[in-house]
Amino acid sequence: MEALRRALDEPVRADAIQRAGPAHVATLKTFEPPLSSLAGRRLAAARRRGKRLLFPTEDGELVLMVHLMSAGRLRYLTPGEAGPKLPAFRLLFEGGGQLVLTEAGPKKRAGVWLLTPRVAEEELAHLGPEALGLGAERLAEICAGESRRLHSLLRDQRVLAGIGRAWANEILHTARLSPYARSQELDGEGVRRLAGAIDEELARGLELRERGAGNPKVYRVHDKLGRPCHFCGAAIARVDYEEHTVYYCPDCQTGGRVLKDRRLSRLLK
Ligand SMILES: [Zn+2]
Repeated sequence: MEALRRALDEPVRADAIQRAGPAHVATLKTFEPPLSSLAGRRLAAARRRGKRLLFPTEDGELVLMVHLMSAGRLRYLTPGEAGPKLPAFRLLFEGGGQLVLTEAGPKKRAGVWLLTPRVAEEELAHLGPEALGLGAERLAEICAGESRRLHSLLRDQRVLAGIGRAWANEILHTARLSPYARSQELDGEGVRRLAGAIDEELARGLELRERGAGNPKVYRVHDKLGRPCHFCGAAIARVDYEEHTVYYCPDCQTGGRVLKDRRLSRLLK
């Protein structure tokens, strides 16, 4: 997300907005102020808070907020560059460039909000501190304050902003911690390893994304069932849930134990 923000920051500022929309009915989450009120205004920057991208207008009156969820894709198309026929959302700039949101699959989960700065602040108030650069000391406080499984804790945006399902897998693997270890049971050394892994993995992802690398290249554990662990060579295992999948190395992370498929065991109960 940070790589995308950096890539968009310059182009979105270059020209005033000519037209905002159309937007898919499921994608646009707000009606007031109307999208048409963006016309003629300039965006000041592309900013990021957790997994949300924020585009404040230069006059300080409006903020366009975008959340891609898991399948949304946001791109800047230069003037004349061919775009999708039916984007989920489009922002057309006066120079002919476009900011285009698309979402693969039938489920429309990505969202676009047009907000006043005050409402935007309220929307973002529940987000935890940014994960990147958090440091061991703050992380120790967070872990001590919550008795949670590490994978679930890392993904909770109210606790830490900016880590999704895939990066929780990558981070815990690099930290060599079990996805099911309890946050309160981590010792100082475990917290330091986790804090180091958060920075290391998010920075690695950022660098690869900026070079244009796609998911198969960026992820080393996530979505790599049966592939060799890059530390020890053991086969990567996974546990399925309804909404997400945990990938891990049994040798590096769980002392050789293979974790039960939670979805299946719930059905059998
Ligand atoms: Zn391993």
